[in-house]
Amino acid sequence: MNRYSRQLTTDPNTNGDANTLMNMQPDAVILATGATPLRPDIPGIDRKCVATAEDVLTKRTKVWGTVVVVGGGMVGCETAEFVLTRVEGVDRVVIVEMLGRIAGDVPATSRPFFLARLEKEGVEIHIHTTVKEITEGGVRVDCKGDPQFIEADTVVLSVGFEPDSRLARGLEGRVSELYAVGDCLKPRTIREAMAEGFTVGMKV
Ligand SMILES: Cc1cc2nc3c(=O)[nH]c(=O)nc-3n(C[C@H](O)[C@H](O)[C@H](O)COP(=O)(O)OP(=O)(O)OC[C@H]3O[C@@H](n4cnc5c(N)ncnc54)[C@H](O)[C@@H]3O)c2cc1C
Repeated sequence: MNRYSRQLTTDPNTNGDANTLMNMQPDAVILATGATPLRPDIPGIDRKCVATAEDVLTKRTKVWGTVVVVGGGMVGCETAEFVLTRVEGVDRVVIVEMLGRIAGDVPATSRPFFLARLEKEGVEIHIHTTVKEITEGGVRVDCKGDPQFIEADTVVLSVGFEPDSRLARGLEGRVSELYAVGDCLKPRTIREAMAEGFTVGMKV
């Protein structure tokens, strides 16, 4: 990289692996590889009827019938609303959340409107409820010590994200200036990703 050059080249089609990047002989690498969905260690997690919220929102995976969304954070709630209102063949959506409230990470100013939309669309909500097993016909849950079964044709996981540090591991010790910004440091929001990108961009 020529530090005095102001030219920016982008290549949206390259899946950057550590060796390809090292062949470019970079003076600095800024990683902004984002985060990957968490997959909790629940029996039945690898069944065909299970997808991640990311897969569903990007239409990589199809859901139908009764959909149980595991996790009632902002992403889970948005996914529930999306499948109920925008995906053909979905007739019932149930959010299962182990905490005592859903959408806790939605800003307080918009949360009431967000919750009202879910209620209006008829999304069913089970709080204080933990998924224990995913079976072919639904999910076994525990609601305050009471074992229950919720029928489901498809199950959508939305239980959080973890930093995508695969590229970081391949580059460690190989480049003199290595930075990570945004969700690949810690999954948060666009605000932090932009702020960190700006700070590091100004530094290199
Ligand atoms: C469903 C959903 C809704 C959200 N809603 C909001 C919201 O309303 N407000 C908000 O502030 N935040 C929201 N967030 C969080 C926000 O999207 C992230 O915090 C933000 O996008 C992080 O930016 P980033 O640049 O770190 O990572 P990302 O935006 O995830 O970008 C990472 C990019 O790196 C690419 N990549 C990864 N590895 C490689 C590689 N080896 N080579 C080349 N490219 C690679 C990926 O394909 C991806 O395009 C939401 C997240 C989700 C999942």
